[in-house]
Amino acid sequence: MKSVLISGGAGFIGSHLCDRLLLRTDVEKLVVVDNLWTGLFDNIAHIRDPRFHFVKSDVETLRSSEKFDEIYHLASPASPPWYMKEPKRTISANLLGAFRLLELLKKGGRFGFTSTSEVYGDPLVSPQPESYKGQVDCTGPRSSYDESKRCTESLLFEMQRTQGLDLKVVRPFNIYGPRTRSDDGRAVSNFITQALAGRPITVFGDGKQSRSWGYVDDVVDGFARYFWINETDYKGPLNVGNDREISVLEVAQYVSKLVGGVPIVFEPSPPQDPTNRRPDLTNANYVMPEWSCKISYEQGVAMTLDWFRDKIKVGAAE
Ligand code: UDP
Repeated sequence: MKSVLISGGAGFIGSHLCDRLLLRTDVEKLVVVDNLWTGLFDNIAHIRDPRFHFVKSDVETLRSSEKFDEIYHLASPASPPWYMKEPKRTISANLLGAFRLLELLKKGGRFGFTSTSEVYGDPLVSPQPESYKGQVDCTGPRSSYDESKRCTESLLFEMQRTQGLDLKVVRPFNIYGPRTRSDDGRAVSNFITQALAGRPITVFGDGKQSRSWGYVDDVVDGFARYFWINETDYKGPLNVGNDREISVLEVAQYVSKLVGGVPIVFEPSPPQDPTNRRPDLTNANYVMPEWSCKISYEQGVAMTLDWFRDKIKVGAAE
């Protein structure tokens, strides 16, 4: 039986990963460490499983002497406005968090890390395979996130090479869906909360920049398969996401249509906003032949809108 720790388990992605992990019958204990900076206790409040334990703490200063069979390190803000506001804290959560968690891993244990497609920066090749080294400005305003993910990957792959660490690194691409904070600030959730409030949708720049939007259930399914189901010889970082690329303006127009029409306004671009992003899924298809994104962007955005609408209704009723 396995003991597992998930850092950032009260976050948007982390909480979905907890739900998924608790379906495993070989897990005797799941400890979630989260400081509730960007995570929300509400995201895990539904979990009644006696194997589940919540610890409110920064990951990098976690007090524990317990060792775990598997550790999944997700603790980090992922939304540009959040990490740009607190860059030092972002670097600390990712990198120092990884150092601390490695101390708690049993010998021979497995370490999973959620890196990011931001390691590719503003890419010059499309789609981006894992071998693409990226175009990131280490002095730029997004660098606390991009570079701390890159540096944590460096640390972990070095340990894989020199100490045989059992390592799984995923690089997700623009995930959206239920349990995103309403004040998260990323595109899909922003557009939806604006539209539901009858406010104009804010498109930054001309909206021609594109992303590959992945619905959370599909992406977390990919994480789970790589983290604990995969039995192939692949040991590298793995792109996980939807490879259908859609412009930001198109997303805004679709959300507007779903609510019966709200205006779209154009605002200045955030600094160094990448122009495009799309995963090459060749490795993902090799590692997880049964996996694919099952929720279309149209369905996923509509489901997310319904989730936000229900949340607003519950909030209003309370
Ligand atoms: N974006 C936008 N309006 C918003 C929020 C985001 O036009 O209210 C744009 C943003 O400039 C970027 C894209 O949507 O080009 C995706 O941004 P997000 O913050 O969701 O993710 P990331 O920049 O990390 O890919």
